[in-house]
Amino acid sequence: MEQWQRSIEKSLTRLEELSALFHIDVEPLKPVVERYPMRITRHYLSLIKEPGDPIWLQCVPDIRELEDGNLLADPLNEEGLSPVPGLIHRYPDRVVLLVSSACPTLCRFCMRKARIGHQIGLNGGSSIDAGLRYIERNPSIRDVVLSGGDPLLLPDEGLKEILARLHKISHLEMIRINTRAPVTLPERITLHLCSMLRKFHPLYINTHFNHPVEITSRSAEACARLADAGIPLGNQTVLLRGVNDDPEVMKKLMQKLLTIRVRPYYLHQMDLVEGTGHFRTTVEKGLEIMSALRGHTSGMATPYYVIDLPGGKGKVPILPGDVKRNGKRLFLRNYLGEVVEYPDDGR
Ligand SMILES: *Cc1c(COP(=O)(O)O)cnc(C)c1O
Repeated sequence: MEQWQRSIEKSLTRLEELSALFHIDVEPLKPVVERYPMRITRHYLSLIKEPGDPIWLQCVPDIRELEDGNLLADPLNEEGLSPVPGLIHRYPDRVVLLVSSACPTLCRFCMRKARIGHQIGLNGGSSIDAGLRYIERNPSIRDVVLSGGDPLLLPDEGLKEILARLHKISHLEMIRINTRAPVTLPERITLHLCSMLRKFHPLYINTHFNHPVEITSRSAEACARLADAGIPLGNQTVLLRGVNDDPEVMKKLMQKLLTIRVRPYYLHQMDLVEGTGHFRTTVEKGLEIMSALRGHTSGMATPYYVIDLPGGKGKVPILPGDVKRNGKRLFLRNYLGEVVEYPDDGR
């Protein structure tokens, strides 16, 4: 067994451990973890400074998860858009392949909360096989996103088999892996893993940092190894109430990501997922944050702010309302709030 696999075994899954560590009453949380299990790696746990802080909120069960707020288990209709189990085909040229049904740390705000984490382990080999065959049969697919759960919970050999099979498909132009391992289980990013991954270029990794405290020397080292293997790194952040819904926190996060060679890609508005309502912010808050980033810091530090529309209607990037038109004249608001005229007469 590899060290990272032992780390998974040692992760915190029982409420009694939580109460022993933090001296809190965990009795009210019992029904929460029956419905939505808890798993926190020792690394991620070590980032908690005190109960209720931004790391705590992301991983410790909360009674509010059982509140009903008109939310849905699958608001993006991922099941409906699955031609075969474990594969989501929403856009014409790309698909998501769910290769794992668990994560090293179970995020309380997870978009697939009802389906993830009940058993550690992988999606059944037969279901992955059906997904792979679907991609092989569909020449319109040129991009595949491996997700889950966390694809890096697969052992190197299992992941390699999937990547090798994808790599052989002539119409597939690129592979992406979405993983939170650099954040929650940095020891997973071994040199062996990286030398395996680099055989499958063009391979992209999007990771998932939500708060500057998550950028530690260990997560920085994990990202450095991946980048040194020639893998371009992006980041998807979720806008979370009480965690990062603050322009200064978000700016620091985006700037620090660039220092570890991770390029901010998406800032996600929370999906309308059952059990996560207490993390929701207004869209207004997201736009305020975007206004605080754009122009005030490197353009490279500015992600797209996206709403993933209900029903699987797609991601829509939204911008602060900066463009007003008057005939052939545009009035654009810059980052200082100045309104500047721009001729738009088509010549
Ligand atoms: C987000 C997503 C993708 C990838 O979208 P990009 O904008 O290309 O990153 C593909 N399929 C589904 C179902 C998605 O949710």
